Amino acid sequence: MAAKRALVIGIAGQDGSYLAELLLAEGYEVHGVVRSASASLENLAAVRDRVELHETDVLDVDALAALLSSTRPREVYNLAAPSFVPQSWREPVAVAEHSAVGVTVLLETIRRIDASTRVFQASSSEIFGEPRESPQTEETPLAPLTPYGAAKAYGHFLTRCYRRRYGLHATSGILYNHESPRRPVDFVPRKIARAATAIALGLERELELGNLDARRDWGYAPDYVRAMWLALQQPEGDDYVIATGESHSVRELAEIAFSHVGLDYEEHVRVDESLTRGSAELHDLVGDPARARERLGWAPSVDFAALVRLLVDADLERLRAQHEVAGPVVEG
Ligand code: GDP
Repeated sequence: MAAKRALVIGIAGQDGSYLAELLLAEGYEVHGVVRSASASLENLAAVRDRVELHETDVLDVDALAALLSSTRPREVYNLAAPSFVPQSWREPVAVAEHSAVGVTVLLETIRRIDASTRVFQASSSEIFGEPRESPQTEETPLAPLTPYGAAKAYGHFLTRCYRRRYGLHATSGILYNHESPRRPVDFVPRKIARAATAIALGLERELELGNLDARRDWGYAPDYVRAMWLALQQPEGDDYVIATGESHSVRELAEIAFSHVGLDYEEHVRVDESLTRGSAELHDLVGDPARARERLGWAPSVDFAALVRLLVDADLERLRAQHEVAGPVVEG
């Protein structure tokens, strides 16, 4: 039996870094692909000396084949892709390359090099776009509304195709929004947590947001990487919705974040129409994680309010540390 060896494509991102920590704790030898040696490895601070990094172009079949042949992983997790949705309108071709062509390169290379390799494809709730039903399950028809969602839908279908045609142990995890202190501030939960903290510390005065009534099913990233790993421990690959099953509004998020630092969000949040998404805004995105619960024994460990508070606490710590380095903040 092959050693417990895993390859995490996109290891330096939020999910990749949490997954690396989990795999090391489970006794794996962990290899990771990073885009370039100059990429930020901040998220890997806790594990940097225990993972082996490879600078490989995952869109290059030969390079990926050489990496799989030399590392011989038992499990491969494909987490590499730009994930900030509005950006996908500015770079639709790059998004298609990573999230559609990249999956093709990976599945085809695995099939050729070692078809017993287990593979996890990070799919996204964006594939449901305008869903016909709510909550969504693994059987809900796909109806993406953005280049990101369309590219992820391709990757999702291709993972299924390879599972059926070649019998690969290939899993598509339909991940709903998942956050952590490692999430970039482009995403609204970190954007709000950081701003609430900065305002509470007197560093900033107001926060501009888009649609406060937009709703999402938000979970905690370390819970979601645990679901990825659990899925690859099953006898066969499958599709899994990974979600909390609850949706909340951006307004609720702001309310909890600001009140956690003793402020009223209404006094600090301003709506900027240019940040709203118009017809590309997604509604009714909420997942039914019943299959993951029943088959994987998976459940989220952090509820919505606790998630928001932990994001704020982490930003508070971060800003306080920076503020000490930068000298005292002048109030007023
Ligand atoms: P996404 O679901 O992957 O696009 O994650 P985001 O965190 O970027 O956005 C989640 C929701 O928050 C979307 O419905 C946005 O329209 C809404 N939203 C409201 N104000 C903002 C904002 O200022 N920035 C972002 N990124 N999203 C916002």
